[in-house]
Amino acid sequence: MSMLFPEKSSEPASQIVDGKIIDGKGIARALTDQVGREVAKFVEQGNTIPGLAVVLVGNDPASEVYVKNKAIQTHRVGMRSFMHMLPQSTSQDELLDLIAQLNANPKIHGILVQLPLPAQIDPVAVTNAIAPHKDVDGLGEVNAGRLSLGIDGIVPCTPLGCLMLLKSVHEDMTGKHAVVIGASNLVGKPMAQLLLKENCTVTVAHIHTRNTKELAREADILVVATGKSGLVRGDWIKPGATVIDVGITRVPAENGKTRLVGDVVFDEALPVAGHITPVPGGVGPMTIACLLHNTLQAARATQAVADASS
Ligand code: NAD
Repeated sequence: MSMLFPEKSSEPASQIVDGKIIDGKGIARALTDQVGREVAKFVEQGNTIPGLAVVLVGNDPASEVYVKNKAIQTHRVGMRSFMHMLPQSTSQDELLDLIAQLNANPKIHGILVQLPLPAQIDPVAVTNAIAPHKDVDGLGEVNAGRLSLGIDGIVPCTPLGCLMLLKSVHEDMTGKHAVVIGASNLVGKPMAQLLLKENCTVTVAHIHTRNTKELAREADILVVATGKSGLVRGDWIKPGATVIDVGITRVPAENGKTRLVGDVVFDEALPVAGHITPVPGGVGPMTIACLLHNTLQAARATQAVADASS
């Protein structure tokens, strides 16, 4: 059990509340530092510096912030960062040409195309064009297929980050009832597969599910990824459950600015849950840390193939 959760009931109430909140920021920082140390060792051993290419099409302000942050973190761990900022009018063929070049570039071990893409581009065609061994977001059909078969592959960054947060408070999830609200290819579906691999009994709810609240109330582990802020109220949560809030929505704040909120009403959920992730500072930081982790994994796999054939 992690030190994040003080189990002694004699502790002051404020500390018990503190111990409930899963520190995604801290866990992400520890993972990033670890990746940095492993990159240094990998390069010292004479291997090529791992390289991550991030492609952004258009000028969505939120995506620009995410992409710049990814580049900063990539440099921070000693990897090479390759940024490709394309105009909103980019055609699908132009993007596929760029991906073909990145696939062929030996300095690049990971390729991430920031979603969402403009309407003229099919995201499935694009993610499937990324060579599976460079698909560090794990969204292509090869890695998604491997995950569904329970065999090793590259796991999508956000669900992988959620799993790491869950493992920080659960040594073993065997037999637990996990409910995932949201069934996207990006988060909900791969999350369900990962929980299945951890021997959980998994229920997936989505927009057409009729009794989502009742299902949520049965969850030992509740992962919420809908983008509907405030969907999950305190009375949706089984006492003691672990709640992972993936949602990120920007809402107006009292000071005239904006703030980020999750899909869970945090103040209502906190007294009921056993453990809960905050927004911000929960799943968000883990996503980038896992991207770096996946890029190093991809660089290692490429090197292993090169070593085997030399
Ligand atoms: P999506 O829109 O692709 O999928 C949303 C899913 O939620 C769908 O399966 C839909 O059926 C379901 N859903 C919608 N409303 C529902 C409702 N009322 N009840 C039950 N199910 C409902 O979204 P996504 O890409 O999976 O992202 C979900 C949220 O997670 C968004 O807020 C997104 O910003 C956030 N997100 C965060 C990170 C991160 O790093 N923290 C990464 C990816 C996505």
